[in-house]
Amino acid sequence: MISIGIDIGGTSIKGAGITKEGKVLEVFSLPVDKQDNQETTINKLIDAVNNYIKEQGFKKEEILGIGLGVPGVMDTKAGVITYSNNLQWYELPIVEMMEKGTGLKVKITNDANAAALGEGRYGAGKKYKNIIMVTLGTGVGGGIIIDGKLFEGNLGKGAELGHTVVVIDGEQCSCGRKGCLEAYASATALIRDTKRAMEQHKESKCWEIAEKLGKVDARVAFEADRLGDPVGHQLVENYVKYLGEGLLNYFNIFRPEAVILSGGIANEGEYLLSRLRKYFEERNYGFQGTPKVELLVSELGYDSGKIGAGALFF
Ligand SMILES: [Zn+2]
Repeated sequence: MISIGIDIGGTSIKGAGITKEGKVLEVFSLPVDKQDNQETTINKLIDAVNNYIKEQGFKKEEILGIGLGVPGVMDTKAGVITYSNNLQWYELPIVEMMEKGTGLKVKITNDANAAALGEGRYGAGKKYKNIIMVTLGTGVGGGIIIDGKLFEGNLGKGAELGHTVVVIDGEQCSCGRKGCLEAYASATALIRDTKRAMEQHKESKCWEIAEKLGKVDARVAFEADRLGDPVGHQLVENYVKYLGEGLLNYFNIFRPEAVILSGGIANEGEYLLSRLRKYFEERNYGFQGTPKVELLVSELGYDSGKIGAGALFF
């Protein structure tokens, strides 16, 4: 038996058959055309799934169902996407439409939850039962696995790890609040801070690095720090401080066995992890016998969302 795991992104949709062992079979993909209305996009997805099943020669009775990881806010029980900013979807009854169109059972979850489930069961978290995954991308997303199961909160609207406040009345966040972790630890936030620092320090190596990259992105600060640039160093120190505090809050609430970082900034790998570990050692919760939390980076990368969406049926 297999399931079909589908990762819906702002520009493309990717899916594949997923085995119970977490293996990704042949992948299919389709672009998201911004001109299409939401119903047209879902009808195109239904056609793509039906074609894929036919081409792969799968029998419907050997498919447990279709799992969808979707960016946005949704009611997982009702199977409705309440709102997706990336896709401009509103009140979309995606589960009902997909079930009608494919004749298969369909489940949805938030894309960050899907990635956490995939990574937790089959990737960097597979040794552990209690993990938290934090995605450091355009925003800060997250997923919580407790006792091997995805924790989604009421109506699937919990686990918004990026929207815990680290600075009261701090930087404006995309969610409407101020001072959220996302407003300090996302790639968007690091880019904002890098640009601000560059304006104040025309002598910084950040300028040359940004010119080589053709833009100011989240790598500039880290690259400048590696080259010994004091502005880059300060940016990385600040970044580690905010992300470190955010993660320490999760440690104290959940005391997970491991926290897994994914997304673009997680590609900094050990350079980032070693600095965060040092930060934790200096500031870890003081009670004796408090177990250490392993800090890891994602192993499955972009596959984690597809695998996790499929794993909604395992
Ligand atoms: Zn927020």
